[in-house]
Amino acid sequence: MHREFSQQLLDHLQAGIILLDRQGRVLAWNAWMVRHSRLTLSEVAAKRLDEVFPDAQHTRFLDAIEQALRFRLSSMLAPGLNAAVLPLDHQPGDRRLVRRMQPLIYVTPMSEASCACLIQIQDMTAMVRRERRLRAQSTQLIATTYRDALTGVGNRRRFDHDLSLSFSDAQNKQCPLALLMIDIDDFKAYNDCLGHLKGDECLIQVATALREGLRQRGDSLSRYGGEEFALPLPEADRDLACTIAERLRLLVEGLGLPHPNSRVGKLVTVSIGVSAMVPEGEHSPSDLISQADQALYQAKDEGRNRCVYIGADLHVVPVCPHPLGPIAVPSSRR
Ligand code: GH3
Ligand code: MG
Ligand code: MG
Repeated sequence: MHREFSQQLLDHLQAGIILLDRQGRVLAWNAWMVRHSRLTLSEVAAKRLDEVFPDAQHTRFLDAIEQALRFRLSSMLAPGLNAAVLPLDHQPGDRRLVRRMQPLIYVTPMSEASCACLIQIQDMTAMVRRERRLRAQSTQLIATTYRDALTGVGNRRRFDHDLSLSFSDAQNKQCPLALLMIDIDDFKAYNDCLGHLKGDECLIQVATALREGLRQRGDSLSRYGGEEFALPLPEADRDLACTIAERLRLLVEGLGLPHPNSRVGKLVTVSIGVSAMVPEGEHSPSDLISQADQALYQAKDEGRNRCVYIGADLHVVPVCPHPLGPIAVPSSRR
């Protein structure tokens, strides 16, 4: 009666129960195990688990059983790490690998004369999937909070983050860091003439063209605000930054987007302020921004559709037109 009750109890548990003798042979195998393994007690009785589950050989599962039998040590095997340990179905009768259970396994030594080891198995598949889904959603959400919804480039938060990281890096390594501030010329007039929807399309096309001109090392372009973009250029000195700026300016002009009301010409163009420095201890990212900003104002003052450089010494250098071509990045900078 007592034995029958124990068996009933085991069979009602929503977890797999296996009892092993001192030689690691199966003594008990509850109904949950039958449902999820499709093996009956008579099929597994008196067998070792490496015979029952040949796939589990040389896994932590069998090691844990060995440790329980020989040294009386308990183990817990987490689901993520042991997904493929046991060929158990998440849904009974389903042999597809995608449905294979993610088990949480406890292996506990026992001091009964006949019974030396208790194995408990819980199905954590739904929880593991939920966790993965949540992690993917959270990664997606973080990406969204750093992306400009209209143009798909980084937003202001991305820029602040990137610049701050690049700045500390340049400070630590004592290498140059450049910044481009890129502003569409006479964009208010473009909107006034063609409407804000066309203005939005123009912003998207300009952002796409600017992206095409980035270095292969994965520089990150961001929308600083309105019709203004910003591009930190790690390890770029004045010459390299000016070359990249001129290349970007030409790419936008090369889009050939008609601008019916520009003071500059017949096409949509950008002005670019360029700055670069090897940051010293007293410098901050805002120094680089204000230099680039000053250079941008200068480019506007001088007639727009041009690049102007202002360095740490506040020396103004107009950037000479540069033929559109690949930017040579020294191999040490890649
Ligand atoms: P400048 O050459 O001196 O830069 O002149 P500008 O007209 O480009 O500069 P201004 O600052 O006078 O005007 C910027 C315009 O950009 C005004 C604003 O309506 C437009 N703008 C800012 N954000 C957006 C946007 O998301 N979509 C559209 N369509 N227009 C925008
Ligand atoms: Mg503008
Ligand atoms: Mg502006």
